[in-house]
Amino acid sequence: MTRPVVGIVGGGQLARMTAPAAEALDVHLRVLAARPDDSAAQVIPDTVIGDHDDLEALLAFADGCDVVTFDHEHVPPAHLRTLQERGVLVRPGPDALVHAQDKIVMREALSQAGLPCPRWAEVADADDVALFANAEDWPVVLKVSRGGYDGRGVWVVSSRDEAADVMASTALVPGARWLAEEKVDFIRELSAQVARSPHGQAVAYPVVASLQVNGICKEVVAPAVDMSAEHSARAQRVALDIAAVLGVEGMLAVEMFDSDRGVLVNELAMRPHNTGHWSIEGADTSQFENHLRAVLDLPLGAPTPRANVAVMVNILGGSYPDLHRALLHVMARDPGIKVHLYGKQVRAGRKVGHVTVLGTDVDVLLERARHAADFFEGTIDG
Ligand code: ADP
Repeated sequence: MTRPVVGIVGGGQLARMTAPAAEALDVHLRVLAARPDDSAAQVIPDTVIGDHDDLEALLAFADGCDVVTFDHEHVPPAHLRTLQERGVLVRPGPDALVHAQDKIVMREALSQAGLPCPRWAEVADADDVALFANAEDWPVVLKVSRGGYDGRGVWVVSSRDEAADVMASTALVPGARWLAEEKVDFIRELSAQVARSPHGQAVAYPVVASLQVNGICKEVVAPAVDMSAEHSARAQRVALDIAAVLGVEGMLAVEMFDSDRGVLVNELAMRPHNTGHWSIEGADTSQFENHLRAVLDLPLGAPTPRANVAVMVNILGGSYPDLHRALLHVMARDPGIKVHLYGKQVRAGRKVGHVTVLGTDVDVLLERARHAADFFEGTIDG
């Protein structure tokens, strides 16, 4: 077999962090990035600049790729079908990927398969939201089915008027609809990641706990603490079932709510995910390597953890524009911490890097990782 060429649509940090895994396996990566200074474009020599909405650009990019995969879920499904018709291998394929693109399509498929979801309904207007709230009680969670990310596209509304305001002031992307969900009184948010190959082989990573602040992932603890073996196995089972039912090829992250009714699925991502960054140092096979293995239909690697606990904390854009200036302090204070900077310009709230620490005591690890992230963000200076 000759050196495989994997095309990644999207030039963000997920594509960038795939590069070391590709290098180790002698896989050639090609990236379709929007701009030359995109995170992945800075480190992957075979970067093509183009728009993922532009079919011609996608076709030109895919020419010569053995398989095309993604760093985000924004490529229109119709474009992916055209790629497939022209003989391009697309993994995950559009029929699977649509469940990560459209929350209503996802809710319908999971409800039909008997997989646990919050109560939900498609809503056309504020009257529908009020009707749903009559059954569920205010507040309810109002979402756009497509086009949201990092909490944009999710509102908690407490009245019909609030729902009407949100709906009137939000422009939907093409094909997007509205849905209402019960506001789950969750204990915490979990993420269950699995890799699945076209052969149908699958591996499940330990279930992790994630802390979301303003809709953005801030911290991950792997594995989630105080989780019984049964509860954890149940969450992994749900993720494996989703991967099989939807025919996912590659990494799948299932974001879940841990509730007194058990786990309830929030949303899906079919690519490496922020809640799996800990696996770079913390697991025998990182999510990035397993994504590559899966899309190339190679046997999957062990997801076995390498420490009792791994803690990952995101570095969000703060008041400190020069992240490299923080390296001296962070590295001097904590030689065990692993720093990942994405080469992105610091902007408020933007994910610009993360840190990971491995060990045994969650509280100690959280203190170390938070200190480093806070220092990068400029919220502390000593
Ligand atoms: P996005 O697609 O922008 O990531 P999500 O659907 O993941 O949006 O929602 C972002 C955050 O909003 C979730 O991590 C969770 O904290 C909160 N959230 C979403 N849906 C619900 C719900 N039904 N009940 C309670 N909180 C929710």
